[in-house]
Amino acid sequence: MDDNDLGNIGYDPYEFANVIGDGEQTLHPGCSKYTKLSALVKLYNLKAKHGMSDVCFTELLILQGDLLTEGNTIPFSMYEAKKTLSTLGTSYEKIHACPNDCILCMKDFGDSTNCPTCGISRWKECKDSILKEDVPVKVVWHFPLIPRFKRMFQSRKTAKSLTWHADKKSVDGHMSHPVDSLSWKLLDDKWPEFGKEPRNLRLALSYDGFNPHSSFSSRSSCWPVILVMYNLPPWLCMKQKFMMFDLIDFWS
Ligand SMILES: [Zn+2]
Repeated sequence: MDDNDLGNIGYDPYEFANVIGDGEQTLHPGCSKYTKLSALVKLYNLKAKHGMSDVCFTELLILQGDLLTEGNTIPFSMYEAKKTLSTLGTSYEKIHACPNDCILCMKDFGDSTNCPTCGISRWKECKDSILKEDVPVKVVWHFPLIPRFKRMFQSRKTAKSLTWHADKKSVDGHMSHPVDSLSWKLLDDKWPEFGKEPRNLRLALSYDGFNPHSSFSSRSSCWPVILVMYNLPPWLCMKQKFMMFDLIDFWS
C-alpha cells in the first residue's frame, strides 16, 4: 500500500463503523485495559516517535500477536494496521513543492523537474553538485479534510455542536464567540447563500515553523498548518481534539 492508496481509504462510512467496532473490541480475552484500537494507536505512536521502519513495525506486530494470549486482535501486518488507522482520518498524501514556494508538483506540474516560474530544481543537490533524483527538497504532507468532516457529521452530538453558531448569537451585545464579530457578519452579507446554511464551516488557520532536529546547524524546517473550527461552541472550538492538522510543509 502506498501513500496514494491511503488517500482513498476513509470515505466509506461502513469502514468507519468497523473502526468503531474495533474501539469496543478487547485486545485479548479478559483484557480490560486496552481495546484493539487503543493498543494499535499506542504502538503506532511508538513507531512514529522512534522512526521505526515499516518492516520493523510489522515484525513487532507479529511478535506482539505471539506474546499475547490466543484470540488476541492485534493486527498481523502493517497493511492491516494502516488500513484501520487510515479510516480514522490519518490518511495523507505527499506532494513535492518548489523550494521557493512557487508551485506544487501536481496535475500539470506532476512530472516537472524544474519549477516553471523560478527554474529551480525540485530535487536535492548532493555535495558534488549532482542532483539526487527522487529526493525532493520540499514536501507538503496533505491530510484531506473532507473525509474528517464527513465523519464528524456522522456523530449526532458533534453535528449538533457544528451548527451551534446558527442560533446562539450574543444577545447582550458582548462578543463571546467569533459569530458575534463583524468579519463573520461580513461573510454572511457577501455570500448570503453560504451564510443561510447552518452546516457551513468556518475555519481559522494557524501555522508556525520549527526545526525538527533541534539543531541550529540543520537547515531542515517544518511548518505545520493547524485549523480551528469556529462553528463549535466557545467551550469546544479551542479544544485540542477539535484542532486539525491540514498540512505539514517539510524542507530538508
Ligand atoms: Zn519556483
